[in-house]
Amino acid sequence: MKLFKKTLLILLAVCLLFIAFLVFNTLTLKSKQLSFDAIEQIDVDPLSKTNFSNAIKIKTISPENAADFDSLAFDNFNVFLQETYPFVDSLLEEKTFNSYSHLYKWEGSDKSLKPALFIAHLDVVPVAEENLPNWKHAPFGGEIVNDTIWGRGTIDDKIGVVGLMESVELLLKSNYTPKRTIYLGFGHDEEIGGANGATFIAQYLKEQGVSLEFVMDEGGTISQGLVPGIDKDVALIGTAEKGFVTVELSVALEGGHSSQPDKETNIDVLANAIVKLKNNPFPAKIPEVVGKMLEYLGSEFPFTTRMVAANQKLLGFLFIAVSESSPQGNANVRTTTAPTIFNSGVKENVLPPVANASVNFRILPGESSTSVLERVKETVNDERIKIEIGGNFGTEPSKISGTETMGFEAIQKTILEVFPGTIVSPYLVIGGTDSRHYGDITEDIYRFGSVKLHKQNIKSFHGINEALPVSEFENAIRFYHQLIRNVSE
Ligand SMILES: [Zn+2]
Repeated sequence: MKLFKKTLLILLAVCLLFIAFLVFNTLTLKSKQLSFDAIEQIDVDPLSKTNFSNAIKIKTISPENAADFDSLAFDNFNVFLQETYPFVDSLLEEKTFNSYSHLYKWEGSDKSLKPALFIAHLDVVPVAEENLPNWKHAPFGGEIVNDTIWGRGTIDDKIGVVGLMESVELLLKSNYTPKRTIYLGFGHDEEIGGANGATFIAQYLKEQGVSLEFVMDEGGTISQGLVPGIDKDVALIGTAEKGFVTVELSVALEGGHSSQPDKETNIDVLANAIVKLKNNPFPAKIPEVVGKMLEYLGSEFPFTTRMVAANQKLLGFLFIAVSESSPQGNANVRTTTAPTIFNSGVKENVLPPVANASVNFRILPGESSTSVLERVKETVNDERIKIEIGGNFGTEPSKISGTETMGFEAIQKTILEVFPGTIVSPYLVIGGTDSRHYGDITEDIYRFGSVKLHKQNIKSFHGINEALPVSEFENAIRFYHQLIRNVSE
């Protein structure tokens, strides 16, 4: 009995020590947030919003079907850039790629500094015909109603193109010369993969022997009320993005008549494979980027979440469990599996001779399309099924960009100067951006735009009623204006 009591006491002491250790880590968790004084807001030309509105009116749609490409609209956008920004047009060196993508070079005074490249895309996704009645204002009307600019591209991503052009025009007008060379790169086909735009710009820079200090693209936003446990605005800077691969599965056992089916038909075999894939998701973990995010947000979380952030190795499983419960969270902690196409059969009384399916995977950094394919083969483990990489598009996960770099710190500083009180954090971009094409010419790619994203507008880009308050548009100009100065002085 005595021994039992002693063991119990020892156990209790160990438990208490363990808890004390966790609490100690939590209380001593250092904040990664920096403090900078807010700067005086620059005046934005009232004409700027008219320029933005004009840009929205030009239907630079990247269509699903290449035959629907409207070259006239893209010609008009070329004219828009030239005529609206005479200082950029006359003072910066411009190169056009495949008629509609542009690279501007603003030569810096100090050649020893590596250039920085700011990219955005001037194309937009189409507006579904059946959704038109749900738009409160025409998607290509560029209307400004109650201090809000309406239309496709206001968030994704004409704000990037126009915001950058406005800020550079403003700097040029005031005779500003950067020390660091600044490039602006605008792709015209980001929404369909960037094969004719960003790919060419990146290739050209590579051929010129350019090595960039960093690339700045769209991706992260200022998130409002979307990070659980944090009330303040959180600026999320994408420091890595997931890869994309589609795996095609097909099975072609002998068909036959549906009155005498074999034990297993093509549809049975394929359906079973899909079930196996769904029942065996990729293992969950806290990827390096997400771990970094927890470090940056840790001190801002309420106590219990902070405790997890401060003890990632020991309590990370709790973070994973909570993340897995929502689709967005789940995408943060694993390579996701999504069957997107399932085809077989044409007649109700005929066993189809073939069945095929496509499964789309979004790959965590550290894994690859090859490792995904291997795992799919292992999981399905059925020689009757042909399994190969397919689809029209694929990309490997990006490298992970640093947070202790000139680029990241300049972006962090600028956010605090222009949006005081904002929390800043790196994060993992789940979707894809044009920036992936630049991986060969820079170590660091940051994906961030100063748009505020919240529950009301999160589905609007690529969806209906995409719109942006004029004040946010003007702040985007202020943000780029200050960022260019911060990186080039
Ligand atoms: Zn975009």
